[in-house]
Amino acid sequence: MECVYCKGQLERGKAPFSVSRRGYHVVWDAIPAWVCKQCKEPLFEGSEVDQIQKALEVLDQETAGLAS
Ligand SMILES: [Zn+2]
Repeated sequence: MECVYCKGQLERGKAPFSVSRRGYHVVWDAIPAWVCKQCKEPLFEGSEVDQIQKALEVLDQETAGLAS
């Protein structure tokens, strides 16, 4: 696998992931990802992205309860 930005080599690592949703913002400090050795850009994989989506679904539900 190579970096989509600079074509550098990717290695297994961790990277922060932040999301802005309606009414709140979430930042994970260290999500498992492929990280470019050259430019340090992270590439997140499907399984991690799926888990983030699931976490956000719960947050959305609970946030809806808070806002009502
Ligand atoms: Zn790169």
